[in-house]
Amino acid sequence: ATKTLGGTELARGIRAEVTSAAAELTLLGVTPRLAVVVATDDESSAWYVRSIARAAAKSGLLCDIVDLGADATTQSIRAELQRLSADPAVHGIILQTPLPAGANFEDLAASIAPDKDVDGANPLSLGRLAAGLPAYAPATAAAVLALLDHHEVPLAGRTGVVVGRSNVVGKPAAQLLLQRDATVTVCHRYTQNLGHHTRTADVLVVAVGRPGLITAQHVAEHTVVIDVGTNPTDDGGLVGDVDETSVSGRVAGLTPVPGGVGPVTTALLLQHTIQSASRSEPS
Ligand code: NAD
Repeated sequence: ATKTLGGTELARGIRAEVTSAAAELTLLGVTPRLAVVVATDDESSAWYVRSIARAAAKSGLLCDIVDLGADATTQSIRAELQRLSADPAVHGIILQTPLPAGANFEDLAASIAPDKDVDGANPLSLGRLAAGLPAYAPATAAAVLALLDHHEVPLAGRTGVVVGRSNVVGKPAAQLLLQRDATVTVCHRYTQNLGHHTRTADVLVVAVGRPGLITAQHVAEHTVVIDVGTNPTDDGGLVGDVDETSVSGRVAGLTPVPGGVGPVTTALLLQHTIQSASRSEPS
């Protein structure tokens, strides 16, 4: 039987801790504050930003949505990130994607102060992560590990296979698995015979953005599958990258979409902001 590795209970627990920590910090004169920089009119991005703002408000964090508009220039986005990085009242900064044509995400994210880089977007954060130095991991990659720990999936000495190599999910997830002594393979769009690699996985992390990419032929009975993909459906729903019907009953565990990685990601963004705020002096 396939175990469902849900994320809502874990997310609720993290948010409860965040809520009490936010109240404590506020009493001390530091109200945790997250800033989300937006330069797009993309609908799903707006939906995601609203969900972060709602979660922040519920936990007692301030959340500023800094909307620069879809025609913002690289210079104006960089200037805003620098301003927020220098503002002592701001503890966390997120740069939302997509960005206007011609703007480069990694290049801009380099202007986020590393101690406020709560979504691990600054290339310095990824480098520090790879070097085993303290850094914020991208919240989604951190959520993958938090889910595995919550469901007591062992990692040391196990085979971890990550499908997708983006700087925000695939690469940092691979680094975090490596840090936990897993033997890690990273697959991507040029990987030949994907199933040959994924079938070796004790833990399979899929972060591609292609519904139905992973089917029964890609998995083994011992595989625990973490589905990071979020693909909107025609009827307004959400599906992952894993064909749930196909793999169900053929793997050891599977995260649901929605209700798996997503809620944990949002909770960890807030948790990172709390960590940053608790290191700052009362203003
Ligand atoms: P991306 O487009 O930046 O990267 C996709 C990766 O998949 C690339 O590295 C590419 O090489 C690889 N790829 C493409 N086609 C492939 C194929 N046929 N076989 C194997 N690999 C292939 O995407 P991303 O930002 O890493 O996001 C991946 C997915 O995760 C998306 O669905 C996104 O919406 C979702 N996501 C979810 C959360 C969350 O909180 N749940 C957060 C971020 C991203």
